[in-house]
Amino acid sequence: MANFNDANIIIQEVSARDGLQNEPQILSVYQRIQIIDALSRAGLSRIQIGAFVNPRLVPQMADSDLVWSGLDRNKKDIRYTVLILNDRGMETALNLKVEHIEIYVSASETHSLKNSHMEMKKALDNAAGIVRRAGQAGMSITAGIMCAFGCYYEGPIHSDIVCAMVSRLLDAGATEIGLADTTGVAKPEEVKSMISQVGKLAPLEMIGLHLHDTRGCGLQNVEAGLDSGIRKFDSSVGGIGGCPFIPGATGNVPTEKVVELAERLGFKTFIDLGKLRIAESIIRSFLDSSNY
Ligand code: ZN
Repeated sequence: MANFNDANIIIQEVSARDGLQNEPQILSVYQRIQIIDALSRAGLSRIQIGAFVNPRLVPQMADSDLVWSGLDRNKKDIRYTVLILNDRGMETALNLKVEHIEIYVSASETHSLKNSHMEMKKALDNAAGIVRRAGQAGMSITAGIMCAFGCYYEGPIHSDIVCAMVSRLLDAGATEIGLADTTGVAKPEEVKSMISQVGKLAPLEMIGLHLHDTRGCGLQNVEAGLDSGIRKFDSSVGGIGGCPFIPGATGNVPTEKVVELAERLGFKTFIDLGKLRIAESIIRSFLDSSNY
């Protein structure tokens, strides 16, 4: 596991989950395993391998349990994580002895209903229960807030709403907090201001950013996060994964761009860009060759 010190940043690769989830093609379990194994060789310290969610709602993530079981997880310096949404996903995570899970709730009522079919309050109650259960089971858990910097549907989201949700999740035992710009609306000054508020509730090393490059501000937002003392970022190689809300928009911030930016600013990532490019070409070849 990479150490937290000021000169290192930790990148969690999310192309195998957020990336593929936002592509229309559905890749096989074997293709997803090949992608994750290629990413594992690139020096990433964290890889999100999929999501234990309803395959009817998110067919791209169907059989993530088989992906988990089929992976070569012998590299002890890599943390493989899974996103879950509900108790059913939690059961699967427990059965498979997943050590770190992630759960996100939305700070926008409209987005919460669209994404999880639950009102915010119910989604938060549900997530807090799962966070507590994870702690009791000895798992670590990133609990995060979607639309933390605003929402495509609802516009600005007040920091009081985000902070109240973060407090609840911290009380339940979240070991890390994720702030997600789910619909890619954040501007750098909004990122800084939200971090300064949430940073009053939790140490900065517990907080990570999950940024999308929907409007081309993704890297500026990464830089704003770095400026504010954040050292953990989610990103997707090649920016794989469009945004389901805005046709033609790009997906997560591209991992290789985050690496280049961070290293230019003097941080270390320990990621091999050549091997990362190989992983990207594998993903693109699978996406290009699959029919949908
Ligand atoms: Zn995302």
